[in-house]
Amino acid sequence: MSMHFHILTLFPDMVENGLHTSILGRATEKGLLSIEAVNIRDYAFNKHQSVDDYPYGGGAGMLMQAEPVYLAYQAVENKIRERKLREDGQEGRTRVVYLSPQGATFSQTMAEELAREEDLMLLCGHYEGIDERVLEEIVTDYVSIGDYVLTGGELPAMVMVDTISRLVPGVLHNDVSAEFDSFQDNLLEYPQYSRPEIWHEKRVPEVLLSGHHANIEKWRREQSLLRTAKARPDLLEKAELSQKEIRWLQEKGLLPTME
Ligand code: SAM
Repeated sequence: MSMHFHILTLFPDMVENGLHTSILGRATEKGLLSIEAVNIRDYAFNKHQSVDDYPYGGGAGMLMQAEPVYLAYQAVENKIRERKLREDGQEGRTRVVYLSPQGATFSQTMAEELAREEDLMLLCGHYEGIDERVLEEIVTDYVSIGDYVLTGGELPAMVMVDTISRLVPGVLHNDVSAEFDSFQDNLLEYPQYSRPEIWHEKRVPEVLLSGHHANIEKWRREQSLLRTAKARPDLLEKAELSQKEIRWLQEKGLLPTME
């Protein structure tokens, strides 16, 4: 099954250029993904093709108006419905994510959940944001990429598309690649090394050259635990650890002992 991203934006070039290279570019060519940037300005109903106006009640900056956003949304929703009817006769509402600093913080868990959707619409705001009324009508999820404010939703949308895409089966070269990445199982990934064996007088850890798979797995697991305990103890609380691992971390003073 392929996944279709529909990005509603005032800056389609930015999104298209950023998402059609490297791994995602190849996945798109193979038909595993489609990434379509829809220009909201194409749905501006006035003769100047303007999409923004002053906010009622005053205040700094401009606001994106409701109608062009709504028309762009409807055009995409109709296209999705037609395709679905052609393909499998199934209908259903498409999830519409509004990228907003006020949304729930994006995470690997959220990416895993969204990767199960066949279509995903991502709505990018600009200027001071978008008229609240259209958000109320079309948005199903509000998502932030972190507690800071960007000039537009394009980079956040690209972050989401990139993260979700690599979870779509077939996008990464082998299906196990994503399995050991950081945040999978609430652990950070172990350190990795490539050739040469010695660089700046630093040696690759001996165990990785041994060819002994069980020892390598054990070393990697320990490194993951150590890294997570030191850098992100909050994650470790949610990770599944064996009794032996808990004791091992406690002995190192990296996990509190039970009273
Ligand atoms: N006035 C808005 C507020 O305080 O909530 C911020 C508007 S921001 C300057 C313009 C657009 O950038 C937003 O509509 C949103 O789409 C996007 N944006 C900014 N920061 C973001 C973040 N941390 N995560 C997701 N989208 C963000």
